[in-house]
Amino acid sequence: MSQSLAAELQSLIQGEVHSTKEALTEVSTDFGRLMEKRPKVLVKPQTSEEVASILEYAYEHDLPVSTRGEAHSQTGQSLVEDGIVLSSRGMNKILKIDEADMTADVQAGVVWGDLVKELDPLGLVPRVLTNNLGVTIGGTLSMAGLGVASFRYGAQGDNVLELEVVTATGEIVVCSPEENSELFDLARSGLGQFGVITRAKIPLRKRADENRTYILLYDDLRNVMTDAKRVMADGRFDFIESWCTPLPVGLKTDEGRRRVFGEWFFPLHVTKEFVDGKAPRDEEILEGLSPYRKCHAENRTALEFAFRLEPVFELWKRGPYWGATHPWMEVVLPWDMTFFYVDTVLKKLPPPMLGGGHILLWPCTGTTSNIPLFMRPKGEFLMGFGILPGVPKEYVEPVLEALDKASDAVNMANGKRYLSGYVNFTHEKWKQHFGEKWEAVSAGKKKYDPKGLLNPGFILYE
Ligand SMILES: Cc1cc2nc3c(=O)[nH]c(=O)nc-3n(C[C@H](O)[C@H](O)[C@H](O)COP(=O)(O)OP(=O)(O)OC[C@H]3O[C@@H](n4cnc5c(N)ncnc54)[C@H](O)[C@@H]3O)c2cc1C
Repeated sequence: MSQSLAAELQSLIQGEVHSTKEALTEVSTDFGRLMEKRPKVLVKPQTSEEVASILEYAYEHDLPVSTRGEAHSQTGQSLVEDGIVLSSRGMNKILKIDEADMTADVQAGVVWGDLVKELDPLGLVPRVLTNNLGVTIGGTLSMAGLGVASFRYGAQGDNVLELEVVTATGEIVVCSPEENSELFDLARSGLGQFGVITRAKIPLRKRADENRTYILLYDDLRNVMTDAKRVMADGRFDFIESWCTPLPVGLKTDEGRRRVFGEWFFPLHVTKEFVDGKAPRDEEILEGLSPYRKCHAENRTALEFAFRLEPVFELWKRGPYWGATHPWMEVVLPWDMTFFYVDTVLKKLPPPMLGGGHILLWPCTGTTSNIPLFMRPKGEFLMGFGILPGVPKEYVEPVLEALDKASDAVNMANGKRYLSGYVNFTHEKWKQHFGEKWEAVSAGKKKYDPKGLLNPGFILYE
């Protein structure tokens, strides 16, 4: 069956079609390694027209289709059982860079890192980059795409001028805030539920040649929050990121069990761009900040900065971390609930639960994003927080239980989940997540994917 299906699909497109066991095994799981779904066939269309042909065929034959970028999501967002995996990686062309207009027109399967390398010699860069540049443009636009410049520019989905989207019935639609805005608003942070993004027009900015990063360490959550808010408000830095880092100190009895517990520290990395070799003066730019310790300062080129985490990912890939399960749980919190939520979670979290992973603390503004389906709390300042474990499969169950509790508690803190990670929502929780947007999500699904064939099983509509 799969072979004749593959042959039929191959007759429709020039892009690759695969149905071997090896090819299907490779696309039956994702970075989370928590879930497995076995597709019938993998296709890699090269153009919007080829995507349209595949989707028309799937529509006619009632075949489910999941769109897959680099599959860095973690609970089956890009997987499908008994259907077609539509990889965007066949659409990997940078179509046009317009230096005068400062825009890049790209196919959705381009990975951000390739675009950054292409733009760098021109002195240009996208306004917002995620930490990992090995993910696709369509993949992060379908989530939101948060980065260290989001406090200034919003998410990547806020920084896109036009999209081309193929709906489940095979219609190719160009959409933007001015044209077909309904689909534009559903496609961004839309998790591939309403169509396949095939092309995006991205605004660029001129980058400085160099930047200087300060690594500051805090021993108190309130202090790091105070300083992060201060530097976001006065805009003295261009990039901000931070973490929660445990120092295991001993064992204590918690809920009847002896557990390792830790003291938590908070590294804050703040970076300033500069030109003509005129680096900022350290004492001036750090004035008024109160870290526990100033650990390090370093100048880097723009390209080195963009790829700054690459050595970390390389290490992960070489060690056991990459192959482990990754039930990552990211949330966006209102600023005034952050201390309570984060402090409570950290007190409950035994450091060994992280395996080889880490915890993100991501200060951001709440006024820079306008993506309708990127659900986030209201407020001038927000905090991203992510527990990112890497755990051998045999030990993951208790970790999932703990993360379920932490995820439920997000509602009590008036926060929202970021949806790329470990998501274990019931229908009711999906409704709660989208809140007043639930109607638009359900109606959009019926309109653009009337048979419910795109990425089924992640959002529970009923
Ligand atoms: C190491 C690591 C670091 C990360 N850092 C960040 C970060 O800094 N900021 C951040 O915001 N996120 C981050 N993430 C999360 C990551 O950005 C998202 O999971 C993103 O969706 C991954 O892109 P992808 O190409 O792998 O998409 P996939 O995981 O393949 O797909 C994600 C979702 O988008 C849909 N999709 C993919 N392509 C398309 C398309 N062309 N059209 C329509 N739908 C599509 C899929 O169906 C799926 O629902 C990180 C993840 C990892 C593993």
